[in-house]
Amino acid sequence: MLGQWLDWTLDEERPSPRIGRFPSGTYHLHGPGIIELTPNILRPGAHACIFSAAIHGNETAPVELIGDWLSALEASTEQLGAPVLVILGNIPALKAQKRFITTNLNRLFKRELDEQGSEPDRARELMEAVDTFYARHHALPKLHYDLHTAIRGSLYTRFVVEPYALCATDAEQWQWLAAADMQAVLHQHQHSWTFSHYSKHYHHAQAFTFELGQVAPFGENDMAALEPMLTLLSTLSAGYEPPKKPADTMAFFKVQHELMRQAEGFTLCFDNDVPNFSRFEPGTCLAKDSVAGDFVVEETPLHVVFPNAQVEIGARAALLVVPSHAIT
Ligand SMILES: [Zn+2]
Repeated sequence: MLGQWLDWTLDEERPSPRIGRFPSGTYHLHGPGIIELTPNILRPGAHACIFSAAIHGNETAPVELIGDWLSALEASTEQLGAPVLVILGNIPALKAQKRFITTNLNRLFKRELDEQGSEPDRARELMEAVDTFYARHHALPKLHYDLHTAIRGSLYTRFVVEPYALCATDAEQWQWLAAADMQAVLHQHQHSWTFSHYSKHYHHAQAFTFELGQVAPFGENDMAALEPMLTLLSTLSAGYEPPKKPADTMAFFKVQHELMRQAEGFTLCFDNDVPNFSRFEPGTCLAKDSVAGDFVVEETPLHVVFPNAQVEIGARAALLVVPSHAIT
């Protein structure tokens, strides 16, 4: 069953029964795109793990990665030793191979959310699923890895975004991420209401948004490059400690400024194919906005991440970042 769950979810089939077994545990289907795996034997040192994918519907590599891991559990080539909640975020967008249907789901994970519509409704469902899962496993350390791919290429092909919250990231996380072949880390400087931020801010989970390469359709992703990431997910779900590498093999950045789109008349002053983390020197104009005016780099060079001129008015059009210390 686990091997077919992704296909069934996409086909909107509701398998019954909702509860079943695989060699090393049981599964429980909580709702569309929400499945909880419980191990037969909980290993000491296990985390309560949440692995989520397709919060943006056109980001398929993480869905394939989770599919490979679920198939390995079903075939018993991997064993479950930790509880894991697996989430496919935006199913209608995943079916349509679009980033979202009406609005970006990954800005809606806020308890006071009062927006209406299918994406806000889905955000509420997912927040409730996270709350229930962490409450059920309250004795275990909490972890949430939200898996994405980026719209454009990147000078660092695989990187993580560390959401801003008051609780600190454990030092061992950086070593695990380095061993999973992440090449850069970006520290957020303020609340961002993403899915990983939700788990870190409200539940003090160790949480990151992973960018695992560039967006591509199903079957066209470079899965070989994600083998070390698959190892990280597999060892965590087995309840073992993941492999480690020195954290300083990754480049660290922190957000200096969020460039917001404020007007209908808004353009970015660089080419569409400029990769993430490209560096711009003082005096360079980065954006023209008919309300906010020109944004020009001041005395410190800035690196641009996630630029997107097509965002809604009032939304973030780019993160402007600078190199930072390895561990904050
Ligand atoms: Zn994404």
